[in-house]
Amino acid sequence: MERPSLTTLCASLCACMGVQAPEHAEAANEKFVADITGGKTVDKIVMYNPDAVGTWIVEKYAEKFVPVRDAAPYELQMRTVFPPKTPVCFASMYTGAQPAVHGIQRYVKPVVKLDSLFDALIRQGKKPAIVAVKNSSLDKIFREREGMDYYITPYDKEAVDKGIELIDGKEYDFILIYNQEYDDSIHFTHPTSRRARRALDHYAQSFKRIAEAVEASGERTLLGYAPDHGVHREWYLLGNHGKDIPKDMEISHFYHVYN
Ligand SMILES: [Zn+2]
Repeated sequence: MERPSLTTLCASLCACMGVQAPEHAEAANEKFVADITGGKTVDKIVMYNPDAVGTWIVEKYAEKFVPVRDAAPYELQMRTVFPPKTPVCFASMYTGAQPAVHGIQRYVKPVVKLDSLFDALIRQGKKPAIVAVKNSSLDKIFREREGMDYYITPYDKEAVDKGIELIDGKEYDFILIYNQEYDDSIHFTHPTSRRARRALDHYAQSFKRIAEAVEASGERTLLGYAPDHGVHREWYLLGNHGKDIPKDMEISHFYHVYN
């Protein structure tokens, strides 16, 4: 079966929350929305965005994803957008549009002017927040929105800590928490190095902590483990991504509705 495109996710998240999708978002994945919500919309969404985890890594290191599947058992397999580069993919994830429409088509981090999930939420009286590592794509590309807050941290652990603080505070309707250690480690080494494998464990531990905070909040919340693209190893032995190959293009997300 052909995988749905990552561009279906934005309208799907909106449908889960019962809000209108941004202007250029592609149609929602109705099966996913029905399956995950059981027909009852959620009040809040928490998206954990761990960079660069492809489906092949989820399968190869199945034992490392046991905590992820425990916290969010619904696996949603998708095909990301091309080129599979971080700002390109996150711009598509949160506008629901192809790169040619949102305008980021290579590794650059301009502010996306296209109507986004965040704009749609703000228009409909919801309050979003982005928690991201300094100078990362998600620190940059959804700036300049009035009515949302940005929390910028030195690295992953501080982003997770801040995200949990925001979940506990219950002020926000939509919280995005971005982490990048695996992507960083594969560029320094390769996708299955010891350092990269340790980063996968850190992602899983962080996701588990976030899930515990979501559960403790008592609010009906859709929680997602939602990477942007996969990775492969180059002939010169370092890890990389950006090619139209399954290792880079096929991604697996994990979701669950709490409370
Ligand atoms: Zn990335």
